Amino acid sequence: GSVMEKVLQRRSMRMRNMQRVWQESPEGRTMLEFRKSLPSFKDKERLLQAIARNQVIVVSGETGCGKTTQLPQYILESEIESGRGAFCNIICTQPRRISAMAVAERVSAERGEPLGETVGFKVRLEGMRGKNTQLLFCTSGILLRRLLSDRNLNGITHVFVDEIHERGMNEGIHTSSEGTFLEDVLEMTGYKLTSFNQVDDYGQEKTWKTQKQLMPRKRKNQITSLVEEALSKSTFESYSSRTRDSLSSWMPDCVGFNLIEAVLCHICRKERPGAVLVFLTGWDDISSLRDQIKAHPLLGDPNRVLLLMCHGSMATAEQWLIFERAPPNIRKIVLATNMAEASITINDVVFVVDCGKAKETTYDALNNTPCLLPSWISQASARQRRGRAGRLLPGECYHLYPKCVYEAFSEYQLPELLRTPLNSLCLQIKSLQVESIAGFLSAALQAPEPLTVQNAIGFLKMIGALDEKENLTDLGKLLSILPVDPKLGKMLIMGAIFHCFDPILTIVSGLSVRDPFLLPQEKKDLALSAKLRFSAKDYSDHMALVRAFEGWKNAEREGSAYEYCWRNFLSAQTLQAIHSLRKQFNYILKEAGLVHDDSALNNKLSHNQSLVRAVICSGLFPGIASVVHRETSMSFKTMDDGQVSLYANSVNSRFPTIPYPWLVFGEKVKVNAVLIRDSTGVPDSSLILFGGALSTGVQVGHLKMLDGYIDFFMDPNLADSYVKLKEELDKLLQK
Ligand code: ADP
Ligand code: MG
Repeated sequence: GSVMEKVLQRRSMRMRNMQRVWQESPEGRTMLEFRKSLPSFKDKERLLQAIARNQVIVVSGETGCGKTTQLPQYILESEIESGRGAFCNIICTQPRRISAMAVAERVSAERGEPLGETVGFKVRLEGMRGKNTQLLFCTSGILLRRLLSDRNLNGITHVFVDEIHERGMNEGIHTSSEGTFLEDVLEMTGYKLTSFNQVDDYGQEKTWKTQKQLMPRKRKNQITSLVEEALSKSTFESYSSRTRDSLSSWMPDCVGFNLIEAVLCHICRKERPGAVLVFLTGWDDISSLRDQIKAHPLLGDPNRVLLLMCHGSMATAEQWLIFERAPPNIRKIVLATNMAEASITINDVVFVVDCGKAKETTYDALNNTPCLLPSWISQASARQRRGRAGRLLPGECYHLYPKCVYEAFSEYQLPELLRTPLNSLCLQIKSLQVESIAGFLSAALQAPEPLTVQNAIGFLKMIGALDEKENLTDLGKLLSILPVDPKLGKMLIMGAIFHCFDPILTIVSGLSVRDPFLLPQEKKDLALSAKLRFSAKDYSDHMALVRAFEGWKNAEREGSAYEYCWRNFLSAQTLQAIHSLRKQFNYILKEAGLVHDDSALNNKLSHNQSLVRAVICSGLFPGIASVVHRETSMSFKTMDDGQVSLYANSVNSRFPTIPYPWLVFGEKVKVNAVLIRDSTGVPDSSLILFGGALSTGVQVGHLKMLDGYIDFFMDPNLADSYVKLKEELDKLLQK
């Protein structure tokens, strides 16, 4: 108690002295001048008072006024000034990894400190923070995990939930594991109200007490009223823009790359310096436009144009490039998705080109299918995009659509809660010891469709995470601590139980990072045949991934990883990310007592292809399609009789026939047709033993099997006999 108190007091004094020294240095003074020029500064005192007096405050202001970088600092600095700097502990969430890192770096620079001192960041797999870190920028996923294990957020004095209007990420389906929905969960657990930016104060002794009394779990019927109460009590702050008015040009209705190219040429011929930020719908568009630009006489000239890209699936290191300044007389052009819309500041941007569309994940609850289609953005997004121009100089924004189209945009984007399947979220809600998921979710500010919730609950029951009464099973408890999609978590656990851990670890890590197989437009065929070389008639994209990864590890040992990636059209960064994620999952499963220290034992059955196939099936079920052979063609039918097609980069799209009756797949996405991504061929027996209950009435369910998983784990022989049984069944079915 009091010794700790003294240590913290001494540290607080040191913090105060160090800040004063910095603020009196020439650089520190310049920085302070800049910070004082931001619109938020004139309201600093009013803000601090509002924070002291209210449990929750909501702050809204135009892009660039200083919400993200200044507000947390105001609190930190006022605590430091009052000699209590070391006592505060602030968390500020960002919707994306790259923004958490960039903002943390910026704020430490403003304080004249190296990153990882007072100011740090933490995102999945990466972080920089030390024992003195008092202001932590992290992704929503990080805080959500912490919240699950520590409902009271012990030791945290302030929480900022930034970019709340986004309500989750929207970088496509592949990135779901980084955690979203934080705001909604916070909201629904009765902690906090959320809106644009939010400050929650327990810093002061007085309010801290009332806060603690308010903290006990809010039951579902209280939640709505709590939110209403908070809304009426909270203080809304609003700022005018710092960004100078950007000149808007509206285009006639003829969007196409040629129009974008023409606009870019027009900008490049201008006298005014300044970088260009182009908003496109997704990776396909970005890479196609890049290819087209590279062939252009003016835009493709590297002595005149520095062309960069920014997309969620790029490695962090690549994303950092967008912050580089271009050499003089070279025009920087950044091709980006709506990722660059709000949370990332590229300082030298003067021109914005807005194509008016974004690829948005939506969810078709009736068909239980996620969809990924380009659609018009909202008016709020269009304004944000315009606001990205002219942070330093007056900006210009080219909207590539007519004004009347803009006027027809919806005002705001739907929150992600209403746009995605809720499997992960429902599992997490359940692990917060909530009784009825549906009741809980119906109290959200914007409640999701009951059908969506029912689908998710049905799914969790089917994979055995919830029992008939919606209680968490042992498997469900395990799944809720694994930072992956529940079905991938289940695959991991099954891989551990059945002693084929290594390949499954690679597959799950690959599926939760992104596909390491590159598919450059101009070399599609070469790239596909490279991928096919890893497939060796396995009829499996997942096995191809395992082989590619193992090959990379070997090449790395021999020092030829670079050539290996080049030759095989693999992304070294992605493989590296998969490698780190593998380590993390391995660690978590060891902690949970599911894998041994002895890698040979964990992999006793890894060579057994049919077992690995069956475990893949156990995780991806009910993502399953039957292979229907016709005379010259094949088609694929899901269990609900829907027709699906294969992605062109699946190895299975390359074979005229597939000698398996079923394909299991991780995801189906509606992109025009319904497409399935990575798939693996499996025999009937995998499905019967490792899939859920089938319409055939065969009920050798995995539920029962998982009840016994401890036994399997204790006695590897049992797993062996299970495999034998399965092989016999295989033979039987073939007769
Ligand atoms: P908001 O969150 O309100 O949109 P920020 O706090 O992110 O605004 O930014 C406030 C101001 O700080 C911006 O207008 C910009 O001029 C400056 N700024 C932000 N990030 C950086 C950076 N990485 N480098 C230089 N200046 C920055
Ligand atoms: Mg911000």
